[in-house]
Amino acid sequence: MLRPGGSEPCATSSCIGRCWGLTAPWTVVGVDVDLKGQQVVVRVDAGAGPYPCPECGTAGPRYDSKPRRWRHLDTMQFTTWIEADVPRVECGTHG
Ligand SMILES: [Zn+2]
Repeated sequence: MLRPGGSEPCATSSCIGRCWGLTAPWTVVGVDVDLKGQQVVVRVDAGAGPYPCPECGTAGPRYDSKPRRWRHLDTMQFTTWIEADVPRVECGTHG
């Protein structure tokens, strides 16, 4: 895996995060490569919070989280998934 415009191999978690466009507070906590199934599952975590409300952007504490999985752009020939526990935010306006 090569970074666009670079010749360094893209191997570390932080580099994978940059390559795949993950921004703070998301960090890559693990990468599972399934050679047989030809897929890559990237596990990301949003850290301890606080998090912005998806409706209004007001930062609030996490009161719950729910596991989600997104299809990402493929990495080489591998099907790539992003997996995360998405924080649900406590917001005065939106609950
Ligand atoms: Zn809100």
